[in-house]
Amino acid sequence: MEVNPCNIPVKVGFTVPMRVSRKTKPETTIVNVGGVEFGGTGIVVIAGPCAVESREQLFDTARSVRKNGARVLRGGAFKPRSSPYNFQGLGEEGLKLLVEISKETGMPVVTEVMDTRQVELVASYADMLQVGSRNMQNYPLLKEVGACRKPVLLKRGMMSTIEEFLNAAEYILNMGNDQVILCERGIRTFETATRNTIDLSAVPMLKTLCHLPVIIDPSHGTGIRWMVPSMAKAAVAAGADGLIMEVHYQPETALCDGHQSLSLDEFDRLMTELKRVSLAVDREISV
Ligand code: PEP
Ligand code: MN
Repeated sequence: MEVNPCNIPVKVGFTVPMRVSRKTKPETTIVNVGGVEFGGTGIVVIAGPCAVESREQLFDTARSVRKNGARVLRGGAFKPRSSPYNFQGLGEEGLKLLVEISKETGMPVVTEVMDTRQVELVASYADMLQVGSRNMQNYPLLKEVGACRKPVLLKRGMMSTIEEFLNAAEYILNMGNDQVILCERGIRTFETATRNTIDLSAVPMLKTLCHLPVIIDPSHGTGIRWMVPSMAKAAVAAGADGLIMEVHYQPETALCDGHQSLSLDEFDRLMTELKRVSLAVDREISV
């Protein structure tokens, strides 16, 4: 049985897989993403657009989020879109833009890989590979990113339990790669007022059962721009090791997820508030 921070034994109705379990490894795993560490005392903020759309869009957004304290840049080059007629991302051209602005700003890059056939290509550009919600149970892909020696950002499946989430991570560790960050990004419930229901209880649960760093995505977790700051602050208070947030230099013109993307000013304001919240819980935002 695991023991939570209050020393109360935690009973869950399943066996935590061996390699991800805190019983096997009591200390939190530090995940090093191009020199930026997740899982220590600092809270790391990942920010950037949902999708890389153009040089100007990416570069303006990246420079601004870095100035305001983001440590890692996000941006999709291969996008999993619900409709095949929606913008699918710039592909390799997008990866090249990410690397160019990464060198200028010093921010390592995380970007999604959707297919086993793309792992080598994406890994040749990215500092961390993102496995998206729709692929959390794509076992060949989990094995492939496990075999690749790059950190992995594993997003919780939108219909997945904590047990399934931990088992997905176990697939990656089983291939010899323990550089895995877990990301809660909202699950599907009966609620329709929000895009997803953000499960903040996943933070203390995952951190108790498992030694991997846990971050929150309040952008996909709510789907609503004005709700992102509240949930980001709540995530820090709940003990998250980091945040991943969508930020766009012109959210109203975004080709993807503009409705949940913060503007540059909104991100700036939120970072100021997050610094205060993190101090209140004896943490600090890594800058
Ligand atoms: C994303 O972060 O770009 C994304 C598509 O998120 P998710 O897989 O959580 O839907
Ligand atoms: Mn998005």
